[in-house]
Amino acid sequence: MTNSYHILVVEDESNIRTFMKTILTSNGYTVLTAGTGEEAMGLLSSQCPDLVLLDLGLPDTDGQLFIRAVRRWSQVPILVVSARSHERDKVMALDLGADDYITKPFGTSELLARVRAALRHAAQRASGSELQVYRSGGLVVDGEKRRVQLDGVDVHLTQNEYKIVSLLARYAGKVLTYDQIIQHVWGPNAAGDNRILRVNMANIRRKLEQNPAEPQYLFTEIGVGYRMAEGE
Ligand code: CA
Repeated sequence: MTNSYHILVVEDESNIRTFMKTILTSNGYTVLTAGTGEEAMGLLSSQCPDLVLLDLGLPDTDGQLFIRAVRRWSQVPILVVSARSHERDKVMALDLGADDYITKPFGTSELLARVRAALRHAAQRASGSELQVYRSGGLVVDGEKRRVQLDGVDVHLTQNEYKIVSLLARYAGKVLTYDQIIQHVWGPNAAGDNRILRVNMANIRRKLEQNPAEPQYLFTEIGVGYRMAEGE
């Protein structure tokens, strides 16, 4: 069982590197590995992998500097794998252009799901496709008709609520930071304060979630942003 995707794993701890390589290889991916930022940069330009799994704490460079350097010339999806639980680091990595993150320790199925989502988003981005129809459980977000339905019934959302929901649906499965959502909805000059977004999210959840305390569709990534359930 092989697919055509090449994944570059950048990780200085050899046991974690081997663990990731084993999981990915047994799921059909071709895996390249690097233990330093310099090695990774070389493989990136010579092998053009389809996705990079990046540990933020590398011996010769900081993962954030690495992301910044890669983004000057490449849009390859970058999935940050980090033991750092500091939310600030995750937010910074995402705002610099990383596509998503996983916190160590992580499970096999979580790793594979994040990899699939990042590859799918990259393919969508390359084809320039906008959100058409998102479906998960009873929730349907129709990007063409600009309509949201829950269990077959139209849900009335304000303009901004719709912008938030359709953005999250378009990137379903991927975390979007507060700033990324705020800039999309209120523009680049919006105040960098999350309060108005939180108010909107609370209203959206009241309309879409049966029990907002145990969401089915819209998940909070504490201190980072929001993620919508993977579409079907
Ligand atoms: Ca490390």
